[in-house]
Amino acid sequence: MRITFRGGVHPIEHKDLSCESALRLFDPKGEMVFPLSQHIGKPAKPVVQKGDAVLVGQTIAEADGYVSASVISSCSGTVKAVEKRRLISGAMAECVVIDNDGQFTLAEGVGKETALSSLSEEDILSKIQKAGIVGLGGAGFPAHVKFKPKDPSAIKYVIANGAECEPYLTCNDRLMREAPETIVAGLLIVLRLFPNARGIIAIEKNKPEAIAAMKTAAGATGIEVRPLRTKYPQGGEHNLIQTVTGIDYPVAKLPADVGCVVSNVGTLYAIERAVAHNEPLFTHVLTVSGDAVKNPSNFIVRDGTSFAELIEACGGVKEGKTVEKVLSGGPMMGFAVGSLDVPVQKTTNGILLRAVDKVAKAEARQTACLHCGRCTTVCPAGLIPQLMADAAADGNLERYENKLYGLECVACGSCTYICPAKRPLTQTFKQVKAEIMAKKRAAQAAGGAK
Ligand code: SF4
Ligand code: SF4
Repeated sequence: MRITFRGGVHPIEHKDLSCESALRLFDPKGEMVFPLSQHIGKPAKPVVQKGDAVLVGQTIAEADGYVSASVISSCSGTVKAVEKRRLISGAMAECVVIDNDGQFTLAEGVGKETALSSLSEEDILSKIQKAGIVGLGGAGFPAHVKFKPKDPSAIKYVIANGAECEPYLTCNDRLMREAPETIVAGLLIVLRLFPNARGIIAIEKNKPEAIAAMKTAAGATGIEVRPLRTKYPQGGEHNLIQTVTGIDYPVAKLPADVGCVVSNVGTLYAIERAVAHNEPLFTHVLTVSGDAVKNPSNFIVRDGTSFAELIEACGGVKEGKTVEKVLSGGPMMGFAVGSLDVPVQKTTNGILLRAVDKVAKAEARQTACLHCGRCTTVCPAGLIPQLMADAAADGNLERYENKLYGLECVACGSCTYICPAKRPLTQTFKQVKAEIMAKKRAAQAAGGAK
């Protein structure tokens, strides 16, 4: 049986900072900001306007088409504006802004139990869609689309992703330890959509309590709990499928093309709450950690909460530390945020405060490529990062895309982590991919306009 994938790295985990912090629901005081686009696909359309009263669990923006997701209020209060606000990415984008009344009054019917036996497969998909559920592992792909492949009977595996391989993040570990029955129930709901599939919960071995809790919860359901070797990026969809099923396939293919559906454990938790308890997606789990935060903590966070309020709830910056940067997400795939006045989105699973480290800074000076080949050894996508970076530096996008298959880069950060010359490889690849995709979209638009 395989327990890992090719390539990968072993960064220091730092999970001890927060792994014993139990999940706690955080009720923010300030205004709440809900971006209309927190998912892959078309932005949602607002269905409220300035002055409207809203309740927790109320839809404030509806999905605009099939590949889109509704946005749900996580607070009660009054709509202050529908306007552009700054997001985690640094971009300004349309948001619904709510003056939070601090009461968190639930909308009617939210939390009401539904008998699962009364629901058809279509009912389940419709409830997932209405609840605004997207993949909470980071991608934000609308869940109802993922769970409706062309041929559901061809799906052989539904894999619950509990790898949580990013250093520092422990919120999914806590969720598996604290709510394993809900995750198993969510997986059983999803398995109803795939008559020939079996369920596997995949967890890295560095989470023994989570493995034990999930095994107990899975009991006699037929769901397997599979411990995996601890290695980054074990939780990447492609790597996870390789490890769990032994199927090797090109990164460009979709999991459904090889008979697999992968869903983060947080998403499965949200599915159980939505389908069995009529509770749409307005909260999710999140870790605040890093060497510069006073009390690293795990939260059940309300979407729309500001980064600043969450950091304050952790006691702010640790004495004697100066924050060098704040990341949204983990250190490998996360990105720096320029302001703390930005809202938590559905897919935000971590906030990291990194302190200034003078030694690391001195060591991090970039030099020319040493041709050591380490980046190629660790790349889980089987790419040659060294040559991709050279092609990018030469502006040779044709070679980057067609000879070096650079678009198959999943931006996992492993090559950057291992590179002794400290070349900003992943950053370069993200930029090149964005440039190529923008050119493709422009060419398509020009073709369509003819
Ligand atoms: S960032 Fe891209 S090129 Fe670098 S190791 Fe990950 S997949 Fe490979
Ligand atoms: S790891 Fe860095 S130094 Fe080594 S070959 Fe790759 S790019 Fe060059």
